[in-house]
Amino acid sequence: MKKKKIMIVGLFVSIVLLSSVLILNLFLNSKITQKRDNQNLDISGNFSNYNLTVFMDELNSMVEGNLTVDFYNNDNVNFTRIPFHIYLSGMAFDTRPGSIVIVNVTDVNNSNISFPFDVYSSSQIMWVNLSETLEPQMRAQFIIQFNATLPDGGIDRANSHGSDGNQSRIYKFASFYPIPCVYDNADGWNTDFYLTTGDPFYFDMAYYNFFIEAPSGMVIAATGKLEEKLDKGATIWYHFNPVYPVREVTFSASHWFQVQSRISNGVNISTYFLPKDSGLWNDFALNIAINALILFNNSFGLYPYPTLNIVEEYTNFGGMEYPNQVYISESISSTGFFEKVIVHEVCHQWWYNLIGNDEVDIGFLDEGLTCWSSDYYVEYYYGDWELFQLTRYIDEVRVYYADYGLSSKINQTIYECFATSTNYYYVAYHKAPLIFEKLRRTIGLTDFLEGLKLYFERHRFELVLLSDLQQAFEDVVGQSLDWFFFPWFDNLYLPKYSIAQNTYNTGTHKLNLTINDLNEPLNDFDYSQQVPLEVYNNIDSLIFSQTIWINGTTELSFTITNQPYRVMLNYNNYVLVQIANETDLTLDSLVQVI
Ligand SMILES: [Zn+2]
Repeated sequence: MKKKKIMIVGLFVSIVLLSSVLILNLFLNSKITQKRDNQNLDISGNFSNYNLTVFMDELNSMVEGNLTVDFYNNDNVNFTRIPFHIYLSGMAFDTRPGSIVIVNVTDVNNSNISFPFDVYSSSQIMWVNLSETLEPQMRAQFIIQFNATLPDGGIDRANSHGSDGNQSRIYKFASFYPIPCVYDNADGWNTDFYLTTGDPFYFDMAYYNFFIEAPSGMVIAATGKLEEKLDKGATIWYHFNPVYPVREVTFSASHWFQVQSRISNGVNISTYFLPKDSGLWNDFALNIAINALILFNNSFGLYPYPTLNIVEEYTNFGGMEYPNQVYISESISSTGFFEKVIVHEVCHQWWYNLIGNDEVDIGFLDEGLTCWSSDYYVEYYYGDWELFQLTRYIDEVRVYYADYGLSSKINQTIYECFATSTNYYYVAYHKAPLIFEKLRRTIGLTDFLEGLKLYFERHRFELVLLSDLQQAFEDVVGQSLDWFFFPWFDNLYLPKYSIAQNTYNTGTHKLNLTINDLNEPLNDFDYSQQVPLEVYNNIDSLIFSQTIWINGTTELSFTITNQPYRVMLNYNNYVLVQIANETDLTLDSLVQVI
């Protein structure tokens, strides 16, 4: 009897727990549906929900914050603990390092119930131990209270920099709160610490409500639409909401920001800049951002969020992307580079935020697509795909081995790049967009853009692999593209052709050619590409020309009535080969008459 009673009590507790979970899920689902109805955007799947509340202390360049976590387990594994990135301590500084100090982790309903947590400062990770096992498709809730102090002086991702004396101080809060790591099949939990190579940020999509309380008199630029603003005298309280899921949030504050805004394509686009740089920024930055938004909306698919901010920052690089808000370096003075960086960072809204990927393992994917897309912007608006390229990618890539003696496989993790002495910036920012351009020239602009559209439509709000992009292009062109993707992304070296056999039979009028790729033994995959072939007679008149496919070692035969003297492969345009000198754009071979 006694046993039975306990069982009934147990069952009752289970029912109560189950129904509260159901109610919570129903509540969350209805919230998601409601958001979906706002702009008729169909977002399938469940997401985590975060409420991030911060109180800014200007004097100490810090925030006191709390993050209410409603973590959704979208993986088919049970979790007993969840890791969070606490990056600020890794960033550059002059006078004071940045830090995220975890005060406590507590139950959402009862602050007296603590969740045990472990902080590993050197690896910039904290683990929250859950009160019970989190099963797939279930949620875990808790609140993390933290204090985040900005690095002072340094010019990295987050900082307080500049001086109020000359109206130039900016507080930039990026990667400044505990951000959940991503669990994936390849790596399990991705707990990589802050890496100074690449943009090593890899996050799942989540709904955010972002509350900021800051001193009045400061201008705040933040991820999301300003839903509410409350003047509390000495401080102002803001509620920002991106409306759709984002990978992270950021905000920047300054007493000196000038603001310009315009609505375009239903998006409120704003620029925030210092008075000293208004000569460059005034109107120009806003127009560039609007042009980029219009082109990328039309070319790839709709930017669904209500706001997009372009904000001045202090960094030692050109700019940095965050969802709904990008930063552009104060150090830029040339109008061309300024335009390039704005377009580039705006484009990351599509390739990084809306479609995400592991930035440590395959950072070249969104970076390469973003570079290609920025070059497409100048092609579209100025008629020149190469205009943003200081040195044309094609010229740099063809002589890269001759200049540096290094291999340049694109498809490598940042750690592999370190181990193989591969220049990550070169492969991600210069070689990868060139390979995308090669694909565009191979399948044509219409199919290339259709492929990107399909990729966007299928995977927005998701995380992807290179194979997802390949699949989208394959579905558009109706054939496997292994022959393109594997060699160009996974080989160490470019093809280096030689003409091994070149004979003409005066009886049959047959010209027989064998073309070798001398780098074939060094690579895993055979290259296939189109190369213009030209045949000349002994007075150097062109007697035959045809664009041929060279697939690894290739044997070709042509019937030519006039006796040929010289055969030439023409590397002009976008034939991708390893050459010793930028001007060596032909491969000649004299015909042997038999
Ligand atoms: Zn980028």
